[in-house]
Amino acid sequence: MPAPHLPDVVAEIAAEMRARPDRGEVATYIPELGRVDTNQFGLAVALGDGSIVCGGDCDAAFSIQSVSKVFTLTLALGFAGDRLWNRVGREPSGSRFNSIVQLEHERGVPRNPFINAGAIAVTDHILSGHQPREALGEIMRFMQFLASDDTIFIDKAVAASEERTGFNNRALANFMKGFGVLENPVEYVLGVYFHHCAIAMNCRQLARAGSFLAHRGKHPETGFSVVTPERAKRINAIMLTCGHYDGSGEFAYRVGLPGKSGVGGGILAIVPGKASVAVWSPGLDAAGNSHLGRIALETLTRRMGWSIFGADSDPI
Ligand code: GLN
Repeated sequence: MPAPHLPDVVAEIAAEMRARPDRGEVATYIPELGRVDTNQFGLAVALGDGSIVCGGDCDAAFSIQSVSKVFTLTLALGFAGDRLWNRVGREPSGSRFNSIVQLEHERGVPRNPFINAGAIAVTDHILSGHQPREALGEIMRFMQFLASDDTIFIDKAVAASEERTGFNNRALANFMKGFGVLENPVEYVLGVYFHHCAIAMNCRQLARAGSFLAHRGKHPETGFSVVTPERAKRINAIMLTCGHYDGSGEFAYRVGLPGKSGVGGGILAIVPGKASVAVWSPGLDAAGNSHLGRIALETLTRRMGWSIFGADSDPI
C-alpha cells in the first residue's frame, strides 16, 4: 500500500467533518463563545520544513481559550525553571476544568497547569514583578514570535464577556489567594488570565506556534531554540496526561498524541518529530473538549499512522 498522502488525508477529513450532523454544543457560560456557528471546521498540519497543510476553515480566527495554557506554561517555566512546580502540580486531575473540590484538599496548590486553577497560578507567576499590561504584552509577543505572525490579537469582546461572567474563576483565584498561593492581586491575575484566554488565532497560526514542541524545542523556521529538548518532552508529557481535563484518558486512548484543548473548540496536538496539528470545531463534548476536533485527530492519526503509541496495522 502506498504511503498516505497528507494533503489528501487532510482534505478528506475536512470534507467528512463538514458533513457530520453531530456537532457538539458551544460553551455558553462565556456568552460571546455561545454565539459561534458550530458548522465551522478547520485543520492545519505544520511540518518540520515550515510548510503547512490546511483544510476547511483554517484561516478563520477563533478563541484559543485554554490552548493558551501551553504557551503560558512554557513562558513561566522559562522564568522560574523547576521552581514553578512548588506552586502547581503535574498530575492529572480527573476533574472538570473549573473544579474547586480538589483545591481545598490540596491546600490551594492546583493539580496541574492546565486546569483553570493551575493556569491561574501560572499566570500569577508571569505577572510577578510586572504590570498586567506588560505581562500580557510578553505573552502576546511570544505567541506572535512562535507563529511568525504579528497580526495575532486579543478578542476584547471575548475577554470582556468572561470578565463579566467569570464567577467560578474568581472563586478559584480567591481560594488560592487565601492559601497564599497567589502573589499578586486577584483581579490583576484574572485580568491577564481572561485576556490570554481570549487570544484569537486561526488553525494555521496555532499549528505553527506549537511547532517547537514537535521539534525538540526548536522553532523549525528560524532554528531558534525556544526550550531545551528536555523541556519540550516534559511539556508534551503534561499535555498527554492533563491536556483534556477529565477527558485526557479518552483522548490518549483514541488519538494517542499530546494535546491541549480549549472551550473555544480548538485543540493543539503534537506529533513528536513530525508535525504540530491545530484543529478547530466550536461544538464541545460533555468534558468541554471539541467534539469533532477529537474525532478529526483520531482519524488523522489512524490514517497517517501517527500515534505516539504505534501505528494501527493498516493505515487508511
Ligand atoms: N477561559 C476559560 C475559563 O477559564 C478557559 C477554559 C477552557 O478553555 N477549558 O473557563
